[in-house]
Amino acid sequence: MLTNDQLSQWDRENFLHPSTAFGQHARGESANRIVKTGSGVFIEDRDGNRFLDAFAGLYCVNVGYGRTEIAEAISRQAHELSYYHAYVGHGTEASITLAKMVADRAPAHMNKVYFGLGGSDANETNVKLVWYIQNVLGRPEKRKIISRWRGYHGSGLITGSLTGLTPFHNKFGLPLSEVVHTEAPYYFRRPRKDMSEAEFTAHCAAELEALIEREGADTIGAFIGEPILGTGGIVPPPAGYWDAIQAILKKHDILLIADEVVTGFGRLGTMMGSTHYGITPDIITIAKGLTSAYAPLSGSIVSDDLFKVLEEGTDKFGPFGHGWTYSAHPIGAAAGVANLKLVDDLGLVQNARDTGAYFQQALKTALGSHRFVGDVRGEGLMAAIELQRDPATGADFDAADKVTAQVVGEMAKRHVIARAMPQGEIIGFAPPLCITPAEIDQVVDATVDALNAVT
Ligand code: PLP
Repeated sequence: MLTNDQLSQWDRENFLHPSTAFGQHARGESANRIVKTGSGVFIEDRDGNRFLDAFAGLYCVNVGYGRTEIAEAISRQAHELSYYHAYVGHGTEASITLAKMVADRAPAHMNKVYFGLGGSDANETNVKLVWYIQNVLGRPEKRKIISRWRGYHGSGLITGSLTGLTPFHNKFGLPLSEVVHTEAPYYFRRPRKDMSEAEFTAHCAAELEALIEREGADTIGAFIGEPILGTGGIVPPPAGYWDAIQAILKKHDILLIADEVVTGFGRLGTMMGSTHYGITPDIITIAKGLTSAYAPLSGSIVSDDLFKVLEEGTDKFGPFGHGWTYSAHPIGAAAGVANLKLVDDLGLVQNARDTGAYFQQALKTALGSHRFVGDVRGEGLMAAIELQRDPATGADFDAADKVTAQVVGEMAKRHVIARAMPQGEIIGFAPPLCITPAEIDQVVDATVDALNAVT
């Protein structure tokens, strides 16, 4: 058995981690948790410390850790057929069954899914779908994609460009020129404090119209957005936002991609986040909750109308020239089938609704008037608190204070994991959908104690 010291040494010497300050890590200056096991909402590290994971990994372990049903489905699939590709019409029982299960859970007008590996590659696929479709429709100049500041859509070249968070652009020369950003629907940071939600929605809509005017509607292929901003700070949209945005997109013949990597399969208390907000997308991105991260798998769900264009295009021009070796990987698909069945059998969408409502209320009650909490917000089992030095005047903490990192560190000492979101002083929560009200109490108590310990 390897010692922890040995592993830590190899980790520092050989492992480049994502979103990590490489130098600090290599010098052993930053925390590195070596995780060993997981069960329900808990994980345990190699030192035997147990944590309530109130961020479900990276908001992906929706059914919770240690689910035997999924582990067994993966094992059965690996024994029976570890891999076969999905090119030129090939499939497996698992991938075909999962396609049917996804279509059954998607909005009624969406019945076809293109499988990938993760959210980033699914969004890369989506951009290529948009470009392909606009070309088949004879308007190749309709190529730009509108995204929102504070949106998160991945870390690839085009997806890192769609992402509207500067830490993902810095020193990469992103965003690429095909991407243009519009205002984030971030009511807490509205331009004027006296703006009502309706006024702020009208403001976001006007900003979008102005952008389309500037760029020219005939150069814009699609708009991409998360139903509720996730990595950008867990920000629900202001009332009426999606209706206003969709009306503008329709008017200018711009396709709508709903990025449901986080919200798909129950997190907001509805099967899909689009349903929750009355969104009628042309394409939906799915990943995380599709397999609860038991194996990597993602998908792009396309509407029946778009499929007609894809059909016409491939009839005229030959096969759709895009694919990954691991598209619809049988092990990921087997995990997905077992996972979606568990979501149903355990009533997790309903639990996200009920326990989510309990969570939102508990956070507001415990922290709504804390002297360093400017905002408490969320929907279903997704929530955030935003910290400020003085909420009354709106004065923010200095980034150098690293207040959020300290609070999250204090929470870990209390055996609860929350996430310091990458931009701003925001602490995010997105626990597994199987969390109970008693476990929510543990999360809220640890947050209050940690905040008081730091501030
Ligand atoms: N889209 C959204 C909304 C996400 O939250 C994420 C990841 O957090 C992605 C896309 C990218 O997914 P992945 O990290 O699997 O590439």
